[in-house]
Amino acid sequence: MASADSLTVPEARALAGTDVPLPAPVGDLSTGPTTGPSPRPSTGPTTSPSTGPSAGPSTGLTASMRERLAAAARDADASGEPDRPALALLRETGLLGLALPYEYGGTGADAHGLNSAVAQVAQVNASASIMLFQHYAVSRRILEHGSPALRRRLLPQLARGDWLAASAWSETGAGANKKQLSTIARRTPDGGWVLDGAKSFTTSAGLADIYLVLAQTEEPAPDAAPDTGYGSAGQTFFLIPADAPGLIPDTSMRLTGMRGSATGFVSVQDCHVPDTARLGPVGAAASIIAGVRDSGATLGAVSVGLAEAALALAHRHAERRGLLAQQAVRHRLVDIAGEVETARAVVERAGRRTADDPGIATLHSKLVASSAAERVINAVERLLGSAGYVASNEINRYGRDARAVALMGPTNDLCKELVSLTWNR
Ligand SMILES: Cc1cc2nc3c(=O)[nH]c(=O)nc-3n(C[C@H](O)[C@H](O)[C@H](O)COP(=O)(O)OP(=O)(O)OC[C@H]3O[C@@H](n4cnc5c(N)ncnc54)[C@H](O)[C@@H]3O)c2cc1C
Repeated sequence: MASADSLTVPEARALAGTDVPLPAPVGDLSTGPTTGPSPRPSTGPTTSPSTGPSAGPSTGLTASMRERLAAAARDADASGEPDRPALALLRETGLLGLALPYEYGGTGADAHGLNSAVAQVAQVNASASIMLFQHYAVSRRILEHGSPALRRRLLPQLARGDWLAASAWSETGAGANKKQLSTIARRTPDGGWVLDGAKSFTTSAGLADIYLVLAQTEEPAPDAAPDTGYGSAGQTFFLIPADAPGLIPDTSMRLTGMRGSATGFVSVQDCHVPDTARLGPVGAAASIIAGVRDSGATLGAVSVGLAEAALALAHRHAERRGLLAQQAVRHRLVDIAGEVETARAVVERAGRRTADDPGIATLHSKLVASSAAERVINAVERLLGSAGYVASNEINRYGRDARAVALMGPTNDLCKELVSLTWNR
């Protein structure tokens, strides 16, 4: 049932800055919502410097949603427990449906809209924003690569928020470039698959209703994709429901930041799935992953939200303490705001897919925005003085959360490698 915090479809689309025509019918993905630049002007989140130094961030989230998400973020950061209240809010507001077209019950946002929604949630609850990001990413991959039956079965539940999706690609030994997977999927005589292996750092572990699991299959495709720098030939994606026998989540890992994100382990032990659980052709995971980079959806949006929140915190502090009379403080705030503007601009360019090479722009957006957010947060920490050194000051959580973005895949090192790889061929 809708709650007072539910968004109507127009509200959800407005939140995402999405006022595009209805998406193309399913099956015609070439004109789908993330495959072309949106002609609309930016309606992304804004922060105090554009509206005056004393204003807080202005977003499409209602004040009540922001307060609930912020309170949940504080509690989860203190406890390290999965942020179930934030997830409940994401489910009930309709935010989980933004990435999917109307045909499946979603609200048809483009990549810019998704980035905008992720940034707005990250302003108040970065852990929730990475759960949202992973849900969007998996939803889109199913839309793009799922069979009609798979799409009909899964997408309405993901759009309604009845189901949360997670990505289980990383492994302790597989490294940033996912080339030496130990998770193996073998064919069974009935045409299905059996998976064995252990995934690490899966966001929404134990909360998700379905996991997109990356596994090495025994039979590399004859037309195996060339090395794209991330993933390798013979890898295949499987969509495994949380209640599949043999799928075991474990959230005992305690993170420094993103502590509400339920980022943990997911193991698959003698986990049998039918062939209909496969996403895309056998051995084609690397080319699917390469396509993700072209989408324009970027974790840089998380960094933008965090940087905006830090800037707003700095303004509030400076105003409360009468520091705005000091020219040096005002100028520091201008420098910080410039960094935030830069981060916002590169993420917007990635989301609108207006660059000659949208994939390179998406990689740059993560690199630039995540580095900018860390610099912004460091600068704000100094500006807050001793107040920022108090453990409960939110700037400390922002700093710990922001650092995670650079480590998340593709890591910032790998982004550089992927951008530069073509120069070495
Ligand atoms: C908060 C959080 C949430 C996450 N959520 C998810 C999730 O939902 N799903 C998921 O699958 N994973 C997730 N991850 C995992 C993340 O994607 C991995 O940590 C990442 O892929 C790097 O793997 P690694 O730490 O094992 O790096 P390692 O391979 O051990 O690399 C160590 C360092 O070397 C660098 N490096 C390694 N190989 C290369 C290379 N080829 N070129 C250049 N530099 C290189 C890396 O950048 C890194 O700095 C999450 C991580 C965090 C911190």
